[in-house]
Amino acid sequence: MDWTFDGGRRCLDLVNTLRSRHLAEGVELLTSPEALAEWLRLAGFAVDVVTSEDLATAIRLREAVDRLLTQPPDEADAAIVNQLAASPPPARLVVDGGVLLREVSVPPDGVASALGAIAADAVDLAPSEAPVRICSAEDCGLRFCDTSPRRTRQWCSMARCGNRAKARAHYARVQVRNR
Ligand SMILES: [Zn+2]
Repeated sequence: MDWTFDGGRRCLDLVNTLRSRHLAEGVELLTSPEALAEWLRLAGFAVDVVTSEDLATAIRLREAVDRLLTQPPDEADAAIVNQLAASPPPARLVVDGGVLLREVSVPPDGVASALGAIAADAVDLAPSEAPVRICSAEDCGLRFCDTSPRRTRQWCSMARCGNRAKARAHYARVQVRNR
């Protein structure tokens, strides 16, 4: 899978799993729970089993984060992010040999805590000073956090879009010269 981790923030890397957002539909890379598991592992979260419910939650979070950061913000989207950022792994009481124990059913590094951490990253990012931008390449649509010193970053990555733009500009100059 053609994953990219150039967003500068984990929450934007998640947003970028819907590729080509400049198109009406975009191109979905989180096509199955297995795909989400692969992405989460590459993003640094040790997850084991990922369910289709987890996938739906991840996509709901992803779209809420994208709308909050690139459109006039909506309270419902903020609520989605807040709920996930605040939801601890589910726990239950277990009586074991006369002793009352609290059993956490999701390990601390499970999917719920991974999505919680990504939601918390969005909470942290939203009011911050570093602007969220959309790649300047017309055919890209990837999001990134601009932490460049002068806030002048244009491309999702130099390797993907920056060099293509430079090559196009060079080609255009050569065309003009040869006319
Ligand atoms: Zn780009």
